Amino acid sequence: MFRKPQLPSYGLYAENDGMTRGWPEFVNLKSEDSVLTQLAQFRSELAATDAAFAVHSSYIHLLRHNAPNCDCLTNEQPGDNCTIVKTVAPNPEATEEQDQEAAAAWMADRVAAAGLDPMDLDDLVHDTATAEASDVNNDGISAQAAFLLRQFGQEEAMKLVAQVVDDLASND
Ligand SMILES: [Zn+2]
Repeated sequence: MFRKPQLPSYGLYAENDGMTRGWPEFVNLKSEDSVLTQLAQFRSELAATDAAFAVHSSYIHLLRHNAPNCDCLTNEQPGDNCTIVKTVAPNPEATEEQDQEAAAAWMADRVAAAGLDPMDLDDLVHDTATAEASDVNNDGISAQAAFLLRQFGQEEAMKLVAQVVDDLASND
């Protein structure tokens, strides 16, 4: 099923969380342009056949085959003498939920790659949460109830509200 590349040629392979995968129809194409026009099809075929390469989180690399007997095809990853010419970020057609997962992964990578840790985002999160709390309180009881239900679940939220009501009522 696999054919050795005719040189020079180009192919696509996907990378996700350290795993890589090529696809026979997309590994032996004549030009960079011909490869890139097939990007969307490559993504959807890959995602449909292998859940580990969901379109929203896979980076796609454009590979140039440089060696006459490269084993890009059989190994499903770049051979030693073949090179990555271009890397394409996760799919712009992903759903909102998929985009958010990809964005979260990107943030985690970005923080780790800079040698930082989650504490470095503390101020940003704290300021954002404070602003949200202000908005909720300004929006009245239904917004407050919805917020507490979201944070604690029904049983705990009702218990906490009952406790506050009891405490304040008994002070009158
Ligand atoms: Zn190759």
